[in-house]
Amino acid sequence: RGKQNARRSTIIFTPEQEEQMRQGVELERALREANLNEELHLVFQPQMDIPTRRIMSFEALARWQSPKLGEIQPESFIRAAERAGLIQNVTKILFGKGLDALETWPTDVSISFNLSAQDVADRDFIFSLTAQVFARGIAPGRIEFEITETAVMKDIAASRSLLEDLSAAGFKVALDDFGSGYSSFAYIDRLPLDKIKIDKSFVRKVADSATSREIIAAIITLCRNLDLKCVLEGVETEEELAVLMPMAPQIIQGYLFGRPMELEAIVPLLTQNKAENARLV
Ligand code: C2E
Ligand code: MG
Ligand code: MG
Ligand code: MG
Repeated sequence: RGKQNARRSTIIFTPEQEEQMRQGVELERALREANLNEELHLVFQPQMDIPTRRIMSFEALARWQSPKLGEIQPESFIRAAERAGLIQNVTKILFGKGLDALETWPTDVSISFNLSAQDVADRDFIFSLTAQVFARGIAPGRIEFEITETAVMKDIAASRSLLEDLSAAGFKVALDDFGSGYSSFAYIDRLPLDKIKIDKSFVRKVADSATSREIIAAIITLCRNLDLKCVLEGVETEEELAVLMPMAPQIIQGYLFGRPMELEAIVPLLTQNKAENARLV
């Protein structure tokens, strides 16, 4: 497509594409002008250990509260931050805020952080994050990094070496959005992983699609046999849970057990979860 277009004098975009690009450029400009330290914050979504019904960890999810543009979701602004060359700054700010949060929590739950491809490609940057963990005296086993296939596939050897170093230092690594890419299974074999997160597109279809059910069941079994933790993402309803329970899922992260929450909600939640060992709805 690119070659053919290059010979033409103009490239035609649909109105939707033009609108997307205009918004993208606007987002990048707003990000450059933003006070990111002030405007970025994290929300936290519980990961429920199903056998014990305990919250074992929280995924830290980014939110941008822009005074100009309002609340912006990560699906939009993370990509804009990558294009603007600001992603490492964004990751660093959020990582610091996540560690601040963890230090206030009353139990030894873990926290997971999403990393972008540009973060993963820069060893020194990753080590600047892990150095903060040691400087604060936080146990590295409570920190998990979520990476995607896209982030590791550009340089699999370099990624493996980075993950081996992280693992040797005691950090956890999860493969996110498992099954949504081209060759997810190849990475299970090549990378030192602690956990995989089954993409929510499979759970979305679980009620209607026998194929999705078989895929999920197979991945859960595979994980058990390989001694990998397995998270089912996106479980929203009791009906979905009922279909999934016979597969003996290990960990579930979804609206049914808790939406992404503001920091203020976490301490009461952990206190309650500890006391009652109760199921949240
Ligand atoms: P992800 O890492 O796969 O995170 C899970 C997403 O699924 C979150 O969306 C979460 O709110 C949503 N989710 C969880 N349970 C359910 C459910 O039951 N139903 C539905 N419909 N959705 C559910 P969110 O917070 O909008 O984040 C979207 C994506 O943005 C993340 O997907 C991740 O790829 C990226 N992202 C978020 N925070 C960061 C960050 O700090 N850094 C980077 N690099 N990427 C981030
Ligand atoms: Mg994630
Ligand atoms: Mg995911
Ligand atoms: Mg996603």
